[in-house]
Amino acid sequence: MRSKPKSKFHYHIFSIFLLLSPQLFAGTVAQTANTISANKGLALYNNYYQQNEGEVEVYYDNIEDGKLVGGKTTLALPPVVEYQGIMQQASASWNCETIINNGPPGNRIDIVVVGDGYTLSDMDAYYLHVDNILSGYFAQQPLASYINFFNVHRVDVISNESGVDEPDYGIYRNTALDMSYNCGGTPRLLCIDTAKAWNAAGAAPAADQILALANSTRYGGAGYTSLATMAGNNSQSVELALHEFGHSFGKLADEYEYDGPETYTGPEPPQINISIYDAGQQASLQTKWYRWLDLPNVDTYEGANYSMYGIYRPTYNSKMRSLNRPFEEVNTEQIIFRIYANVSIIDNSTPLSSVPISCYTNFYVVPVKPIPNTIGIQWYVDGEPVSDANAATFSPDVALLTDGIHEVSVTVTDNTSMVRNEVKRAQLMRKSLQWRINVVKPDFNQDNFVDVTDFAILTNYWLDACSAPGWCEGSDLDRDGIVNFNDFRIFARYWLEAVIH
Ligand SMILES: [Zn+2]
Repeated sequence: MRSKPKSKFHYHIFSIFLLLSPQLFAGTVAQTANTISANKGLALYNNYYQQNEGEVEVYYDNIEDGKLVGGKTTLALPPVVEYQGIMQQASASWNCETIINNGPPGNRIDIVVVGDGYTLSDMDAYYLHVDNILSGYFAQQPLASYINFFNVHRVDVISNESGVDEPDYGIYRNTALDMSYNCGGTPRLLCIDTAKAWNAAGAAPAADQILALANSTRYGGAGYTSLATMAGNNSQSVELALHEFGHSFGKLADEYEYDGPETYTGPEPPQINISIYDAGQQASLQTKWYRWLDLPNVDTYEGANYSMYGIYRPTYNSKMRSLNRPFEEVNTEQIIFRIYANVSIIDNSTPLSSVPISCYTNFYVVPVKPIPNTIGIQWYVDGEPVSDANAATFSPDVALLTDGIHEVSVTVTDNTSMVRNEVKRAQLMRKSLQWRINVVKPDFNQDNFVDVTDFAILTNYWLDACSAPGWCEGSDLDRDGIVNFNDFRIFARYWLEAVIH
């Protein structure tokens, strides 16, 4: 649909505003922060350019006659050197708001939303578009179950003009990120200046994925590696955003048949959701989605990756084939693997140490939790699982251990049934930690019983300073250099117990 042309009056007002705007947006106060952010944006883009070796595969999708159609193309990334000057002075003082904060950016997938063709007076519309897209985005699986693995930051990029370029309609706009429909002559391909996009994302505390919204109602989008574009104000935006996320984050192929060679004749593609092998071949080769073939809805359906014949998809109709469909099992499993490739299952734990630590340590792990919580925890002593030790905290029963060095370990696993590839689950969705502990018992006189004679020793050293090797006849049980209430607490736990040495 063609954009509604703006009135001349609007443009006149706008020109006056433009004359004023450099002073408004680039005040001296912001200069220092500006330069730092600009460098961060440049570093993000430099990294993106290097990782993609200067060019990127881009998927694009559109609806025609109610069906999803599109293709993919390769676009050259603009050389970093062209941007160094621009980035020093431009854009990166944008306001950034963290709108979904689920944990430390170092262990989350940080999605940065940027907008193009939104003027200062379009900001309320921008916030609304972002909210609409995100609430729909995280309502669907597997994102609904894995929302705790994501942060979302909204960067308020302000453009000089409203709307984005539509060269096929003679519409050109002066915008911050140079988004354009009809990119390379493909009407539905909504391109962006990748360098400017990453530069703007530099205003966020961290950036792993960019979601770029064009201020437009016109259908279109693109799935670059780690970057998806879409119309901010199209009723299908959420669905398209999720489909492009399937490309840009999930590394999934299109499962529709449109516009390619009628019969696919190439090699087995790398994407997990398309294959030249039928069900029998997949089962005997143990490849692609063979683990899911027992489900009634999973099979090898012919037609995918833009061809009608010679290539199969796992389900009759997933979100990679049509909008308003679930991702289905095979694509869902892949997206979960991609999430865990970026996020460790353990956020925090008892600090790891190269030297043995007190056997009276209260051990803990803090896992990142899916919804519902499918995390399983098992604690071990000397490699043996401790029965019922499945909580986030653990204290070994020291009375059962001989004096000296032992090992405490824990394994944290996401046991979700949305994953069936156990090799990848073990690689990506399970983490083990080990500590060495130094076992010392409250039986200070070594008579194999914790009793009143030991208590006499403890009170004798009460509040004394202690050090290696004696540690006040062992009564500084936690080896913190003083006999105090914590040692008494440990002592009381073993009161009148028999112990071994
Ligand atoms: Zn697609």
